[in-house]
Amino acid sequence: MSELHKFLFEGLPVRGMIVRLTDAWTEVQRRRAANSSTGAYAPPVQALLGEMVAAGVLMQSSIKFNGALILQIFGDGPVKLAVAEIQSDLGLRATATVRGEVAADATLSTMLNLHGQGRCAITLDPQNRLPGQQPYQGVVPLTDADYRPLEQLSDVLQHYMRQSEQLETTLVLAADDQVAAGLLIQRLPLEGAGNLAGQPAQSPEELNEHYHRIAILAASLKREELLTLDVETILRRLFWEEKLQRFEPLQGETAPRFFCSCSRERVGRMIQGLGDSEAHDILSEQGSISVDCEFCGAQYRFDAVDVAQIFKTPGGQPPASSAVQ
Ligand SMILES: [Zn+2]
Repeated sequence: MSELHKFLFEGLPVRGMIVRLTDAWTEVQRRRAANSSTGAYAPPVQALLGEMVAAGVLMQSSIKFNGALILQIFGDGPVKLAVAEIQSDLGLRATATVRGEVAADATLSTMLNLHGQGRCAITLDPQNRLPGQQPYQGVVPLTDADYRPLEQLSDVLQHYMRQSEQLETTLVLAADDQVAAGLLIQRLPLEGAGNLAGQPAQSPEELNEHYHRIAILAASLKREELLTLDVETILRRLFWEEKLQRFEPLQGETAPRFFCSCSRERVGRMIQGLGDSEAHDILSEQGSISVDCEFCGAQYRFDAVDVAQIFKTPGGQPPASSAVQ
Protein backbone atom coordinates (compact mmCIF):
# COMPACT_ATOMS: atom_id res chain seq x y z
CA MET A 1 0.00 0.00 0.00
CA SER A 2 1.06 3.59 -0.56
CA GLU A 3 2.54 5.43 2.43
CA LEU A 4 4.05 8.75 3.50
CA HIS A 5 6.44 9.09 6.44
CA LYS A 6 7.46 12.40 8.02
CA PHE A 7 10.30 13.02 10.46
CA LEU A 8 12.35 15.77 12.08
CA PHE A 9 15.99 15.83 13.03
CA GLU A 10 15.78 16.48 16.74
CA GLY A 11 17.07 19.91 17.75
CA LEU A 12 17.87 20.87 14.16
CA PRO A 13 15.86 22.95 11.68
CA VAL A 14 15.80 20.05 9.24
CA ARG A 15 12.91 17.81 8.33
CA GLY A 16 12.40 14.87 6.05
CA MET A 17 9.75 12.80 4.30
CA ILE A 18 9.67 9.53 2.44
CA VAL A 19 6.85 8.64 0.08
CA ARG A 20 6.31 5.20 -1.33
CA LEU A 21 3.48 4.88 -3.85
CA THR A 22 2.40 1.42 -4.92
CA ASP A 23 -1.35 1.00 -5.63
CA ALA A 24 -1.79 4.73 -6.34
CA TRP A 25 1.01 4.56 -8.89
CA THR A 26 0.00 1.32 -10.59
CA GLU A 27 -3.52 2.78 -11.07
CA VAL A 28 -2.00 5.73 -12.98
CA GLN A 29 -0.29 3.26 -15.31
CA ARG A 30 -3.25 0.90 -15.58
CA ARG A 31 -5.51 3.61 -16.98
CA ARG A 32 -2.97 4.52 -19.63
CA ALA A 33 -2.18 0.93 -20.57
CA ALA A 34 -5.91 0.15 -20.97
CA ASN A 35 -6.36 3.05 -23.40
CA SER A 36 -6.38 1.52 -26.90
CA SER A 37 -5.40 4.78 -28.59
CA THR A 38 -2.32 5.48 -26.45
CA GLY A 39 -1.22 2.15 -24.99
CA ALA A 40 1.14 1.91 -22.01
CA TYR A 41 3.86 4.47 -21.31
CA ALA A 42 7.32 3.81 -22.75
CA PRO A 43 9.61 2.95 -19.80
CA PRO A 44 11.50 6.31 -19.73
CA VAL A 45 8.18 8.25 -19.71
CA GLN A 46 6.83 5.95 -17.04
CA ALA A 47 9.92 6.53 -14.88
CA LEU A 48 9.65 10.31 -15.30
CA LEU A 49 5.93 10.40 -14.52
CA GLY A 50 6.43 8.20 -11.45
CA GLU A 51 9.12 10.56 -10.18
CA MET A 52 6.82 13.52 -10.84
CA VAL A 53 4.00 11.96 -8.84
CA ALA A 54 6.31 11.08 -5.93
CA ALA A 55 7.86 14.57 -5.97
CA GLY A 56 4.43 16.19 -6.19
CA VAL A 57 3.26 14.37 -3.06
CA LEU A 58 6.41 15.45 -1.19
CA MET A 59 6.05 19.06 -2.33
CA GLN A 60 2.33 19.20 -1.53
CA SER A 61 3.03 17.79 1.93
CA SER A 62 5.90 20.19 2.56
CA ILE A 63 4.10 23.33 1.35
CA LYS A 64 0.81 22.22 2.96
CA PHE A 65 -1.25 24.04 0.41
CA ASN A 66 -5.05 24.00 0.53
CA GLY A 67 -5.75 23.22 -3.10
CA ALA A 68 -4.16 21.38 -5.99
CA LEU A 69 -0.41 21.30 -6.59
CA ILE A 70 0.12 20.76 -10.30
CA LEU A 71 3.55 19.79 -11.52
CA GLN A 72 3.87 20.18 -15.29
CA ILE A 73 6.75 19.75 -17.70
CA PHE A 74 6.29 21.31 -21.11
CA GLY A 75 8.62 19.56 -23.52
CA ASP A 76 9.98 20.28 -26.99
CA GLY A 77 10.87 16.65 -27.76
CA PRO A 78 8.59 13.62 -28.17
CA VAL A 79 7.08 14.24 -24.72
CA LYS A 80 4.99 17.39 -25.16
CA LEU A 81 3.53 17.52 -21.68
CA ALA A 82 3.77 15.54 -18.46
CA VAL A 83 1.44 16.45 -15.60
CA ALA A 84 1.05 15.26 -12.03
CA GLU A 85 -1.68 16.78 -9.89
CA ILE A 86 -1.87 16.32 -6.13
CA GLN A 87 -4.76 17.55 -4.01
CA SER A 88 -4.30 18.65 -0.41
CA ASP A 89 -5.80 15.33 0.78
CA LEU A 90 -3.08 13.63 -1.34
CA GLY A 91 -5.49 12.37 -3.99
CA LEU A 92 -3.34 12.21 -7.13
CA ARG A 93 -3.54 11.70 -10.87
CA ALA A 94 -1.05 12.03 -13.72
CA THR A 95 -0.78 11.82 -17.47
CA ALA A 96 1.59 12.56 -20.33
CA THR A 97 1.16 13.57 -23.96
CA VAL A 98 3.63 11.80 -26.21
CA ARG A 99 4.08 12.32 -29.95
CA GLY A 100 6.37 9.93 -31.76
CA GLU A 101 8.89 7.42 -30.49
CA VAL A 102 10.61 7.56 -27.12
CA ALA A 103 13.83 5.54 -27.25
CA ALA A 104 14.43 3.01 -24.48
CA ASP A 105 17.50 4.97 -23.36
CA ALA A 106 15.83 8.39 -23.60
CA THR A 107 16.92 11.00 -21.03
CA LEU A 108 15.17 14.05 -19.64
CA SER A 109 16.85 16.13 -22.38
CA THR A 110 16.04 13.88 -25.31
CA MET A 111 12.44 13.46 -24.16
CA LEU A 112 11.63 17.02 -23.13
CA ASN A 113 14.42 19.47 -23.77
CA LEU A 114 15.67 18.64 -27.26
CA HIS A 115 15.96 22.30 -28.28
CA GLY A 116 16.44 23.84 -24.85
CA GLN A 117 12.82 25.02 -24.67
CA GLY A 118 11.63 22.57 -21.99
CA ARG A 119 10.07 24.13 -18.90
CA CYS A 120 8.89 22.88 -15.56
CA ALA A 121 5.94 24.70 -13.99
CA ILE A 122 4.55 24.31 -10.49
CA THR A 123 1.05 25.68 -10.05
CA LEU A 124 -0.76 26.10 -6.75
CA ASP A 125 -4.46 26.31 -7.44
CA PRO A 126 -6.39 27.27 -4.28
CA GLN A 127 -9.39 25.17 -3.33
CA ASN A 128 -11.82 28.06 -3.04
CA ARG A 129 -10.47 30.53 -5.50
CA LEU A 130 -11.95 34.02 -5.20
CA PRO A 131 -13.38 35.64 -8.33
CA GLY A 132 -10.48 37.02 -10.38
CA GLN A 133 -7.87 35.30 -8.23
CA GLN A 134 -5.18 33.65 -10.33
CA PRO A 135 -3.47 30.44 -9.31
CA TYR A 136 0.16 30.95 -8.27
CA GLN A 137 2.66 29.58 -10.79
CA GLY A 138 6.45 29.27 -10.71
CA VAL A 139 8.42 28.23 -13.78
CA VAL A 140 11.98 26.95 -14.06
CA PRO A 141 13.96 25.83 -17.12
CA LEU A 142 15.37 22.31 -17.44
CA THR A 143 18.88 23.74 -17.26
CA ASP A 144 21.25 24.74 -14.48
CA ALA A 145 22.54 28.26 -13.75
CA ASP A 146 25.12 27.84 -16.56
CA TYR A 147 22.43 26.76 -19.06
CA ARG A 148 23.61 23.17 -19.08
CA PRO A 149 20.74 20.71 -19.48
CA LEU A 150 19.67 18.93 -16.30
CA GLU A 151 19.11 15.20 -16.60
CA GLN A 152 17.42 14.57 -13.25
CA LEU A 153 13.97 15.78 -12.30
CA SER A 154 15.25 16.03 -8.71
CA ASP A 155 17.79 18.68 -9.81
CA VAL A 156 15.09 20.69 -11.60
CA LEU A 157 12.86 20.65 -8.52
CA GLN A 158 15.66 21.41 -6.05
CA HIS A 159 16.35 24.47 -8.17
CA TYR A 160 12.67 25.43 -8.06
CA MET A 161 12.40 24.98 -4.28
CA ARG A 162 15.48 27.12 -3.72
CA GLN A 163 14.29 29.87 -6.09
CA SER A 164 10.57 30.05 -5.46
CA GLU A 165 10.07 28.73 -1.96
CA GLN A 166 13.49 29.72 -0.64
CA LEU A 167 13.83 26.28 0.86
CA GLU A 168 17.07 24.32 0.64
CA THR A 169 15.85 20.91 -0.42
CA THR A 170 17.47 17.61 -1.27
CA LEU A 171 15.40 15.15 -3.28
CA VAL A 172 16.03 11.57 -4.31
CA LEU A 173 13.40 10.18 -6.67
CA ALA A 174 12.88 6.84 -8.39
CA ALA A 175 10.13 4.92 -10.14
CA ASP A 176 9.61 1.62 -11.88
CA ASP A 177 6.40 -0.15 -12.90
CA GLN A 178 5.56 -1.14 -9.30
CA VAL A 179 6.78 1.68 -7.08
CA ALA A 180 7.18 5.47 -7.32
CA ALA A 181 9.18 6.73 -4.36
CA GLY A 182 10.94 9.81 -3.07
CA LEU A 183 13.01 11.09 -0.18
CA LEU A 184 12.93 14.79 0.69
CA ILE A 185 15.20 16.54 3.15
CA GLN A 186 14.47 20.19 3.78
CA ARG A 187 16.03 22.93 5.75
CA LEU A 188 13.45 24.87 7.72
CA PRO A 189 13.69 28.68 7.71
CA LEU A 190 16.31 29.96 10.14
CA GLU A 191 14.06 32.42 11.99
CA GLY A 192 13.63 31.13 15.49
CA ALA A 193 15.82 28.13 14.77
CA GLY A 194 17.91 28.86 17.87
CA ASN A 195 14.75 28.56 19.94
CA LEU A 196 14.10 24.95 19.08
CA ALA A 197 12.68 23.49 22.27
CA GLY A 198 15.29 22.78 24.91
CA GLN A 199 18.23 23.12 22.53
CA PRO A 200 21.27 25.34 23.05
CA ALA A 201 21.39 28.17 20.52
CA GLN A 202 23.53 27.34 17.51
CA SER A 203 25.22 29.68 15.09
CA PRO A 204 24.06 29.85 11.46
CA GLU A 205 27.35 28.18 10.50
CA GLU A 206 26.70 25.24 12.80
CA LEU A 207 23.16 24.88 11.48
CA ASN A 208 24.51 25.01 7.93
CA GLU A 209 26.90 22.19 8.69
CA HIS A 210 24.12 20.07 10.13
CA TYR A 211 21.98 20.55 7.05
CA HIS A 212 24.82 19.76 4.68
CA ARG A 213 25.80 16.63 6.61
CA ILE A 214 22.20 15.36 6.47
CA ALA A 215 21.78 16.37 2.81
CA ILE A 216 24.92 14.44 1.85
CA LEU A 217 23.67 11.36 3.69
CA ALA A 218 20.31 11.67 1.92
CA ALA A 219 21.89 12.09 -1.50
CA SER A 220 23.88 8.88 -0.98
CA LEU A 221 20.62 6.89 -1.21
CA LYS A 222 20.63 4.84 -4.41
CA ARG A 223 17.52 4.67 -6.59
CA GLU A 224 17.56 0.91 -6.34
CA GLU A 225 17.53 1.16 -2.53
CA LEU A 226 14.69 3.68 -2.59
CA LEU A 227 12.60 1.33 -4.75
CA THR A 228 13.30 -1.94 -2.97
CA LEU A 229 13.93 -1.19 0.73
CA ASP A 230 11.22 -0.50 3.28
CA VAL A 231 11.12 2.91 4.95
CA GLU A 232 12.51 1.67 8.30
CA THR A 233 15.56 0.18 6.62
CA ILE A 234 16.20 3.31 4.56
CA LEU A 235 16.03 5.59 7.60
CA ARG A 236 18.25 3.29 9.65
CA ARG A 237 20.87 2.97 6.92
CA LEU A 238 21.05 6.68 6.14
CA PHE A 239 20.54 8.34 9.51
CA TRP A 240 21.60 5.80 12.14
CA GLU A 241 23.80 8.42 13.79
CA GLU A 242 21.10 11.11 13.83
CA LYS A 243 18.30 11.62 16.33
CA LEU A 244 15.04 11.34 14.44
CA GLN A 245 11.63 12.34 15.66
CA ARG A 246 9.09 10.30 13.74
CA PHE A 247 5.45 11.13 13.09
CA GLU A 248 2.56 8.75 12.61
CA PRO A 249 2.89 7.62 8.98
CA LEU A 250 0.08 8.32 6.54
CA GLN A 251 -1.03 4.93 5.33
CA GLY A 252 -4.28 3.16 4.57
CA GLU A 253 -7.10 5.70 4.24
CA THR A 254 -4.93 8.77 4.90
CA ALA A 255 -2.18 7.69 2.49
CA PRO A 256 -1.65 9.26 -0.91
CA ARG A 257 -4.15 7.63 -3.27
CA PHE A 258 -5.27 7.75 -6.86
CA PHE A 259 -8.18 10.08 -7.53
CA CYS A 260 -9.71 11.32 -10.76
CA SER A 261 -13.18 12.78 -11.03
CA CYS A 262 -13.84 11.20 -14.44
CA SER A 263 -16.40 8.40 -14.70
CA ARG A 264 -18.39 6.50 -17.28
CA GLU A 265 -21.53 8.26 -16.05
CA ARG A 266 -20.03 11.71 -16.67
CA VAL A 267 -18.93 10.79 -20.18
CA GLY A 268 -22.41 9.38 -20.81
CA ARG A 269 -23.95 12.73 -19.84
CA MET A 270 -21.49 14.47 -22.15
CA ILE A 271 -22.57 12.28 -25.07
CA GLN A 272 -26.17 13.03 -24.21
CA GLY A 273 -25.27 16.71 -24.40
CA LEU A 274 -24.07 16.22 -28.00
CA GLY A 275 -27.59 15.25 -28.99
CA ASP A 276 -28.90 12.15 -30.66
CA SER A 277 -28.05 13.01 -34.27
CA GLU A 278 -24.46 14.11 -33.66
CA ALA A 279 -23.81 11.07 -31.49
CA HIS A 280 -25.11 8.82 -34.28
CA ASP A 281 -22.99 10.65 -36.85
CA ILE A 282 -19.88 9.82 -34.84
CA LEU A 283 -21.08 6.25 -34.42
CA SER A 284 -21.55 5.73 -38.14
CA GLU A 285 -18.17 7.31 -38.85
CA GLN A 286 -16.13 5.58 -36.16
CA GLY A 287 -18.15 2.58 -35.08
CA SER A 288 -18.10 3.70 -31.45
CA ILE A 289 -17.68 6.87 -29.41
CA SER A 290 -14.44 6.96 -27.52
CA VAL A 291 -13.57 9.69 -25.01
CA ASP A 292 -10.25 10.02 -23.15
CA CYS A 293 -9.98 11.74 -19.79
CA GLU A 294 -7.40 14.47 -20.28
CA PHE A 295 -6.29 14.28 -16.64
CA CYS A 296 -5.65 10.57 -16.14
CA GLY A 297 -5.68 9.08 -19.65
CA ALA A 298 -8.61 6.73 -18.99
CA GLN A 299 -10.57 5.80 -22.08
CA TYR A 300 -14.35 5.49 -22.10
CA ARG A 301 -15.86 3.76 -25.10
CA PHE A 302 -19.53 3.60 -26.02
CA ASP A 303 -20.78 1.33 -28.80
CA ALA A 304 -24.11 1.61 -30.65
CA VAL A 305 -25.97 -0.30 -27.93
CA ASP A 306 -24.54 1.95 -25.18
CA VAL A 307 -25.41 5.10 -27.13
CA ALA A 308 -28.96 3.89 -27.83
CA GLN A 309 -29.32 3.27 -24.11
CA ILE A 310 -28.14 6.83 -23.26
CA PHE A 311 -30.82 8.40 -25.43
CA LYS A 312 -33.50 6.00 -24.26
CA THR A 313 -32.92 6.32 -20.51
CA PRO A 314 -34.64 9.20 -18.74
CA GLY A 315 -31.95 11.46 -17.30
CA GLY A 316 -29.42 9.98 -19.68
CA GLN A 317 -27.84 7.54 -17.28
CA PRO A 318 -25.76 5.07 -19.28
CA PRO A 319 -26.19 1.40 -18.49
CA ALA A 320 -24.34 0.46 -15.32
CA SER A 321 -23.37 -2.93 -16.70
CA SER A 322 -21.17 -1.58 -19.51
CA ALA A 323 -17.52 -2.36 -19.14
CA VAL A 324 -15.16 0.57 -18.62
CA GLN A 325 -12.42 0.43 -21.21
ZN1 LIG B 1 -9.71 10.77 -15.32
